[in-house]
Amino acid sequence: MKKMALLLILLTLSLGSCAKPSPYRDIHFFAMDTFAEVRVYTSDTSANEALIVGKSVAEDLENKISTTKEESDTYAFNHGAAQEYSEDFTELLRLSLELSKFTDGAFDMTSGALIELWTSCEAEGRLPTDDELSVALSNAGYTGVQISDDTVTKQNPGLLLDFGAIGKGYAADRMAESLRESGVSCGMISFVSSVTVFGDKDFKIGIRKPDTSGELFGYVSLRDRSLSVSGDYERFYEIGGVRYPHILDPKNGMPIANGIHSVVVLADSGAMADALSTAVFVMGIEKAATLYRNAELSFEFLCMTDDGAVASDGFLAYFEPSVKGEQPLSLSQYISER
Ligand code: ADP
Ligand code: MG
Repeated sequence: MKKMALLLILLTLSLGSCAKPSPYRDIHFFAMDTFAEVRVYTSDTSANEALIVGKSVAEDLENKISTTKEESDTYAFNHGAAQEYSEDFTELLRLSLELSKFTDGAFDMTSGALIELWTSCEAEGRLPTDDELSVALSNAGYTGVQISDDTVTKQNPGLLLDFGAIGKGYAADRMAESLRESGVSCGMISFVSSVTVFGDKDFKIGIRKPDTSGELFGYVSLRDRSLSVSGDYERFYEIGGVRYPHILDPKNGMPIANGIHSVVVLADSGAMADALSTAVFVMGIEKAATLYRNAELSFEFLCMTDDGAVASDGFLAYFEPSVKGEQPLSLSQYISER
């Protein structure tokens, strides 16, 4: 999969309540296949220790949930090695299952066989055949995973987990928890496409246009919340000179081509924001609007499409366009105009 890692999806800027920028300590590292940045707003030197612990939380989690590390729980689950799974793995799987049900499988962490198929086809420079797609589809589907107490099983030995659409958000939640436990009251964790902020401070997050121009579409103000972006312009499969989004439709195994180029979701947890930004990308605006209205879980979203941008009212309340007047259409307006 092609990555233009240096083109950051988000630009994080902090806005303190005071005019002078507040002092912070930070740490940068590579984890979860991307760049991570953690900031804690304090000048206390003990915060350095908290940052190092926070970083190790991300690294430990990656060692447990990675699809490629042979010592991970995910690898053991995918390759049929009987083992006791870590609590972190089981908790993430349980949460993923809930979010798969909630999104009617638009987010589906059992899409591993489909992802493997597209990855190997990209390497061979060809599209998957119908037969290959139907085999991969028969090895996918969240209803094939059962969790009872601490026992995790799969119906089909070919089923493969992939936490690519939720892992970064979940890691940010776990890191925020660890920082709080270390006595940090305010901070920010960024995995580029997933950002979690906590504490008594507003953060202004820049949202890029869904292209490689690097221009900003606008800003969202965030406090004690998480934001996640799913886009088709940074990670994709390139086959025969055509770019196919890395987000797949678990129902037919195909890359999503519904006119959406980028989705931003705001939610109370990083895991939710991350999984839902992928799910809204898959669902499209109409289905996402239905989910939004019926939601037992609350979230806000922005979709940037070929025809312009649409955002839920709760998103607009926190949004400021970079060009005055270039406000996204509100979801209610969009629906009423259809
Ligand atoms: P990013 O990783 O760029 O932040 P996402 O959070 O949307 O973007 O995650 C996309 C990744 O999730 C893909 O690279 C793939 O590993 C996996 N994936 C693709 N489609 C789905 C899907 N429908 N449900 C769950 N995971 C998916
Ligand atoms: Mg995601």
